[in-house]
Amino acid sequence: MIPNKTLKLSLKSLREFAKKRLPDETLIDLDARDECPMEIVRFMCSPDKLGIQLLFIPEEFGGMGGGTFDVYCVCEEMARIDLGVATAVLATFLGSDPITVGATAEQKKLWLTRIAEEGLLFAYGATEPEAGSDLGALRTTAERVGENGKVVGYRITGNKQWISNGGVADAYSILANTPGGPSWFIVEKGVKGFTHDEPEDKHGIRLSNTAALALDNVYVDADRLVGGVEGQGLNQAQAVFGYTRLMVAAFGLGAGWAALDRAIPYSTKRIQAGAPLSEKQGYTHKLIVPNVARLEAARAYIEETAERIDAGEGSLNTEGAIAKYMATEAGNLAADASIQALGGYGYTHEYMVEKIKRDVRITTIYEGTSEIMEMTISRDRWQIHLKTRGQHYHAEAQKYEELHARHSNVGADLAAMALHALAEVMEKARAARLTRHQHVLLRLGELIAYAECSASLARRAALAAENKLNEKANKRFDAAALAALSRIFAREAALRAAEDGLRWVIGAGGVGDAEIPALEAILGLPAIHRAQSGLISDLDYVADVLYGRAAKRAELAA
Ligand SMILES: Cc1cc2nc3c(=O)[nH]c(=O)nc-3n(C[C@H](O)[C@H](O)[C@H](O)COP(=O)(O)OP(=O)(O)OC[C@H]3O[C@@H](n4cnc5c(N)ncnc54)[C@H](O)[C@@H]3O)c2cc1C
Repeated sequence: MIPNKTLKLSLKSLREFAKKRLPDETLIDLDARDECPMEIVRFMCSPDKLGIQLLFIPEEFGGMGGGTFDVYCVCEEMARIDLGVATAVLATFLGSDPITVGATAEQKKLWLTRIAEEGLLFAYGATEPEAGSDLGALRTTAERVGENGKVVGYRITGNKQWISNGGVADAYSILANTPGGPSWFIVEKGVKGFTHDEPEDKHGIRLSNTAALALDNVYVDADRLVGGVEGQGLNQAQAVFGYTRLMVAAFGLGAGWAALDRAIPYSTKRIQAGAPLSEKQGYTHKLIVPNVARLEAARAYIEETAERIDAGEGSLNTEGAIAKYMATEAGNLAADASIQALGGYGYTHEYMVEKIKRDVRITTIYEGTSEIMEMTISRDRWQIHLKTRGQHYHAEAQKYEELHARHSNVGADLAAMALHALAEVMEKARAARLTRHQHVLLRLGELIAYAECSASLARRAALAAENKLNEKANKRFDAAALAALSRIFAREAALRAAEDGLRWVIGAGGVGDAEIPALEAILGLPAIHRAQSGLISDLDYVADVLYGRAAKRAELAA
């Protein structure tokens, strides 16, 4: 882990560098020209310049040994600057992850040291024209090359699609089918038979290079097989999902906030109907505050998951999926609302929010689409539901009822309602075998993500109240504001769990008409409706905090 002081200094240098070298006019120009600014990417990755690479490489290989929490902080900051540049710089970590988790000691030493010392740019080559979400459909092959009965190398043939840094990387991790199963190989640029296409003309992240790769009988020595054992590729890819999905979650968070941080100051200056937009509830309570609540709920989940990975709890794939799902969906909603918040100006290039919206769109697609995240989340929690005979989320809810007894204003009671309702919806789905409908299974994934994030934000608000947040945790909001955000978000999560849950249970034929009123009561729907009381005053309070009016209002009230 990097000391907090060093992390803060690195983030500051990053911000200052971006201010100087990547002002809005430059970003708009590069976006229009569809150009990846390689000089800037190289500068950011060079060990003697910004050296972002060093943050992530273990100290024994010449890096700074950053942990998952450090990675999240850097990814968010990078995304606030530009998601295309962030993708270009951080593709190296994705590309080198198979090495970090699966390589032999010599391979780690060689490649991780080269990344640290030479600022080597990596690309991660998994996706193929026919194998996207389903990597098992992989067609690229790696045939053994033998000498005297010993495997001395491999010949790789196939095509890779949509590879970030595909046209500019120095080295590539390539997933290919060996006789022993899918395996990662390291292939350096320029080897015979290895070519890439022209960069894709993309909707967003136009400052990143994305290209298809072609491998035609490319020879690599046997020591380029990551880990030295065939058939470990999918496991190695799985082993880092918690971590890599957290990186993309931080991208969604950073981009969402980048958009809101343009909309918020804009709305203080834009006068319509005699007053700034920032003073109009119909504006702030629709376009700004709910997006802040969703982003901060996602942040709470990201921060907790990062802390748990750093504490050695394993790769936490499902939690990584929840974090990615919530943060990237919230980032997209926030960027879209920011266009609306700027009206006609928002729809033009000059005001940047439309670029951020195009950029953040990728985060719900790459590193596992939102639908794949819903499936991952739902399948895992479904198993837990079955194993605990339906008690898992009731037991979780109880923890929040206890938390509510200690902190009555952090929304823990509302989070508990969301968790109880979720447990009942899942139980109803089990009894009526509703998950045979894939749509129901995936909708459960969404409800689970909302309920778990509401719990996480309530916990974070309680920690803030006790002054116990980790020193690197984001402190944009104080304890009172976090508590209000938590109450806003948990009301939404509870309503979704009960109302949407009921909708899908009824929609899939899980209950007859006569049973619906009883099910509404079991789900706690009347209580969840009553708990919406106070929502407008919480929205008012958060708007006041965002616009710096809270202290003044408190003074006037006193
Ligand atoms: C700009 C960009 C950069 C990228 N960078 C990289 C990179 O560096 N390395 C890399 O390896 N890949 C990269 N990718 C590829 C990316 O990870 C894939 O595009 C993504 O995983 C989805 O795969 P696909 O495009 O084949 O879509 P598909 O898998 O065909 O999915 C299409 C749609 O169907 C849905 N879907 C798929 N399966 C199911 C299912 N079983 N049930 C229900 N719905 C389903 C998906 O959610 C999606 O909405 C990049 C892509 C882009 C666009």
